[in-house]
Amino acid sequence: MKEYYLGLDLGGTKILTGLADSKGRIITRSRRDTEADLGEDKIIKNMIATIKDVLNKAGVKKEEVKTLGIGSPGPLDSKKGIIIENANLPWKNVALVEKMEAALGINTLLQNDANAAALGEKWFGAGKNIDNMVYITISTGIGGGAIINKELFTGVNDNACEIGHTIIDPNGPLCGCGNHGCLEAFSSGTSIGKRAREAAQAGRSKEMLDLADNIVEDIDAVICAQAAYQGDQAAKDIFENAGYHLGIGLGNVINTFNTEMIILGGGVMKASDLFLDTAIKTMEDIALSGPLEIVTVKEAELGSDIGLMGAVAVAMEDRLVKNG
Ligand SMILES: [Zn+2]
Repeated sequence: MKEYYLGLDLGGTKILTGLADSKGRIITRSRRDTEADLGEDKIIKNMIATIKDVLNKAGVKKEEVKTLGIGSPGPLDSKKGIIIENANLPWKNVALVEKMEAALGINTLLQNDANAAALGEKWFGAGKNIDNMVYITISTGIGGGAIINKELFTGVNDNACEIGHTIIDPNGPLCGCGNHGCLEAFSSGTSIGKRAREAAQAGRSKEMLDLADNIVEDIDAVICAQAAYQGDQAAKDIFENAGYHLGIGLGNVINTFNTEMIILGGGVMKASDLFLDTAIKTMEDIALSGPLEIVTVKEAELGSDIGLMGAVAVAMEDRLVKNG
C-alpha cells in the first residue's frame, strides 16, 4: 500500500492543505478562507473540507494517509495537541488534535508555525543535509525554530527559540510582550512600520507620506521599503537600524547554538538588500570566532509554500529522521 501524508497550514485568514507522497512531494492542494470570525466549529469544518478536497482530487482514501501535520500559530501544546490561544483565531484551549482525529480517523500532529517552518526548511528547503540549524522568521513578529541533530527542539513546553523576545537593548522600545528592547521591537515588520510612521510624522520623510497619500496611518514596512528603494534617507536609515539590531540577535543565536546554518525567512526578507549586509557585519562583530567560523547564513528557499511544507514536515518528521 502506498503511504501518504497531509500537511495543513492554518493561518488567521486562510487554510492551505496539501497531500504529499512518501517523499514529501505535493500531489494535490486545497485552499479555503479560515473564516475565523465564525468561530471554532466553523474553522474546524473548513480544515476538514480542505482535507476531503485533496483526498478526493487525488483519489486517495484516508486509510492510506499515515499522518496529518498541522502548523498553527500559538501558543500551543504540541504534546497534548491543544491550541492554548491565539490573537487571530477565536479559540481558547481547543483540543485540536483530538477533534481532528475523531472527525477523520487520521493520526494527527500539531506544531507551532515557526517550528513547522524550521522543519520545512530543514527537510525541503535551504537546510537539506544540515543536521544543526536555526530558522528565524522576520515577519509581523519575529519567531524561530531550532533543529538539533536533525530533530526539532521544541523546549519542554514549546517555548524554545523565542528569538523575537530575546532582549537586544533593555533601554529599547516597548515590545508587545511587555518587556523593553526585544529583537521583535526593533526588527519586525510591525516595528519597522512604527518607526516609519514616527519618521513621517516628525517631517523626516516626504517620500513615505507621498506613497501613503499623506495618510500617516497607512505607512507600513512595505511603504518604508518602497521609499528606501527610491532613495529616501529616513526610510533607508530605518532598515539599517533594524539590520543592526537583527545582527546583534544573530550574534547571540550563533553564540548560543553553535549551528552550521542560520536560515532567514519571513516577509521582511523580501527587502533583505536594505538591511542584511548591516545585519551580517554586526553579527560578525558580535559572534565568537569559534562558532562564527563554521556558520552559514542563508535565505529561506520555500517562499510562500513554507507554511504548507512545514506542516508536511511535521507529519513526516519521524520518517525523515529515520531515513535521512
Ligand atoms: Zn518581547
